[in-house]
Amino acid sequence: MTAKTPLQVADGRETEEVNPSGVVLRCSVNAPIRRLLDYLPPVGWQQPVPVGTRLRVSLGNRRVVGVVLASIPRSESQVDTLKPADAVLDSQPLIDPLLLKLLGWTAEYYQHPPGEAMVLALAPRERRGEPPAPLGEPGLALNVRGRGLPDDALRRAPKQAALLALLRERPRRFSELTALGITRATARELLSKDLAEKRDISHAEDWRWGQALSPTPEQARAITQINATQGEFCCHVLEGITGSGKTEVYLQAIAATLRNGQQALVMLPEINLTPQMLQRFQSRFEAPIAVLHSGLSDGARDRHWQMARSGEAAIVIGTRSAVFVPMAKLGLIIVDEEHDGSYSQQDGLRYSARDVAVKRAQVTGCSVVLGSATPSLESIVNTRVGRYRHHQLTTRPGVATMPQKVLVDVRGLQLDAGLSKPLLDAMSATLERGEQVLLFLNRRGFAPSMLCQTCGWVAGCDNCDARLTLHRSPPGLCCHHCGARRAIPRHCPGCSGTSLSGLGLGTEQTEQALQRLFAGTTVYRADSDTMTRRSSMEDLLTAIATVGPCIILGTQLLTKGHHFPEVTCVGVLDADAQLFNPDFRGEERLAQLLTQVGGRAGRADKPGAVIIQTRHPDHPVVQSVLAEPWQTLCDELLSQRLSQGLPPHGHLAVMRCDSRATAEGLDFLTRCVRQLRTRELTEGIRIVGPLPAAMARRAGLYRSQVILMGGVRKSVHHLATQLVMIADSQKQPAGLRWFMDIDPIESL
Ligand code: ADP
Ligand code: ZN
Ligand code: ZN
Repeated sequence: MTAKTPLQVADGRETEEVNPSGVVLRCSVNAPIRRLLDYLPPVGWQQPVPVGTRLRVSLGNRRVVGVVLASIPRSESQVDTLKPADAVLDSQPLIDPLLLKLLGWTAEYYQHPPGEAMVLALAPRERRGEPPAPLGEPGLALNVRGRGLPDDALRRAPKQAALLALLRERPRRFSELTALGITRATARELLSKDLAEKRDISHAEDWRWGQALSPTPEQARAITQINATQGEFCCHVLEGITGSGKTEVYLQAIAATLRNGQQALVMLPEINLTPQMLQRFQSRFEAPIAVLHSGLSDGARDRHWQMARSGEAAIVIGTRSAVFVPMAKLGLIIVDEEHDGSYSQQDGLRYSARDVAVKRAQVTGCSVVLGSATPSLESIVNTRVGRYRHHQLTTRPGVATMPQKVLVDVRGLQLDAGLSKPLLDAMSATLERGEQVLLFLNRRGFAPSMLCQTCGWVAGCDNCDARLTLHRSPPGLCCHHCGARRAIPRHCPGCSGTSLSGLGLGTEQTEQALQRLFAGTTVYRADSDTMTRRSSMEDLLTAIATVGPCIILGTQLLTKGHHFPEVTCVGVLDADAQLFNPDFRGEERLAQLLTQVGGRAGRADKPGAVIIQTRHPDHPVVQSVLAEPWQTLCDELLSQRLSQGLPPHGHLAVMRCDSRATAEGLDFLTRCVRQLRTRELTEGIRIVGPLPAAMARRAGLYRSQVILMGGVRKSVHHLATQLVMIADSQKQPAGLRWFMDIDPIESL
């Protein structure tokens, strides 16, 4: 119908629409637009453009990168005046159809603009419209003269002879040569003698793996059952106490995947992606490993992305966002520490990388293994209804035993900097035996608040409904919610008095007390104030490996993943902090924490003890952590959730709204919800709110929310979709932001 309409194209030239009867490319662009956009192929373009190919298109007066999601007949496009794309950017699609399907599902499930989902599958340079990173890295290969050289020709220059011998086997990347102790100077010698040439060299194509440990019977069963489902979709939950050898199960399952010529994707919480963990994979597999985490430079990310996509990388190890990396031959997905909250993306597209990983396995038709010492209640329920298969590792290999757990009721006890006499005694005994102590206190800073003894004034944040934390080094009052900092006042702003003091206990203060109580013993503090560099945790682990008896004091940073073999005494200073957390997952988190914290300690030959200080020794969660296995504890938690209709027995979606003015957000949500009610879509669903969030003001914004909850996932999701559509069509005050959070990990 618009066949002869003159069009403005990229360079402003007037042209006629070509291809009047041909196809229209339907694509997504990286912009907060909830629909797809239609373009004609570039002027003069004749070939088909497969889905997953990038285009350069104009959007308003910007040039942006789009991804083709479909080719449709001209008659199906609703757009009257179609613009041609500026250019087709790829000769091969960058995103395969299965991954496109996963991304489409992600956008729809999490109620997010599709274009912002599609870019998650692109490397940094690809998002900018540049070509993918070249495969291979700069390296060295023998040229014709070099290959023709007699073996003993370089015997006067042994270093060069060694390099020659290596290059006779195969070309080598410079990074590889450096690792083998060959210097650039030696390489230059061969180049200047015209025996070798510089070249981009890809990674080894033959994948090899080293000797596996001989598995325990429990490991063997898990490995056999996982490997029996390789090549088809199946979700396995590997529940194994800390140190029970879950990683060995992963390694042997991955070996089977590689044997089939397929790639494995291994997901870890950010904190576990240490060189130690990587080394475990590298020493088992002689095969290219791509690593993806937030600490990488864009250039490295680009290269590893391409290794994953091309199929060159045998294994891809990464954090949350790696769940979207294209992989040519994906055959197995591992999600380690699947219960970990860091798998949830908390801004932009809010997704659970664990749940997306399961979906990806389903779409791909491969198996996925969710491993944890304390699987999430969601995964536990899925094993109980038979949707997921369940494997348990209940013992540590060899003679290793689990630590003894002891509760100390601190009500009425005299505490010294938060430490009770039973704990202090156990610490002394441990240090005297030459062993190490790990103390856990989940509050950084010197004191969680500062107050005036005279008038009761409390230092609060100007931007948040929160108290400021007192820090001593460097001195200041800090808000842990918005990052605001203030000088410590000399006089009380309330009464001008001088009796200001810290209230409560933080890691800084406990560190000072420990240095006083255990003079001469090294004390390490591990919280986000001291662990500021990427290598900090690694440095700490290296230091304590050789230091002998010492005390390690830290926040939840210490509860995850790392193993401290010389630690035989673990103290939890304040177990109660999580207990009365208003969020419904508070108790689950406490139980996971208490279970995990004990698992950090001990080695085969040295049993450990865990001492838990509490004011609520009779609380069911605290009690069952003592004696019961994780599954029994889950029964308790699950029956509570069932009675309240909460996940995993019910489903939640939360629409949150941030506004500059107090009532604006609430008004907005109220308007949206009112329209929902009139549509009578709310059967079987409870709508809680709109209400202010538990912390009603944060970083200067007023936060409000409305919760949708119901027993049927589909109906909750359907209603959430309606609510998003309504919100999208509302007039919005400037500065107001809203978003939908599906399966939120926090409901408050
Ligand atoms: P998890 O991942 O469950 O915490 P790991 O895989 O790290 O446990 O195993 C803990 C320790 O036990 C490691 O040092 C590992 O080498 C060792 N281990 C695991 N499986 C075996 C086995 N079958 N035989 C001997 N040692 C094992
Ligand atoms: Zn005062
Ligand atoms: Zn603040």
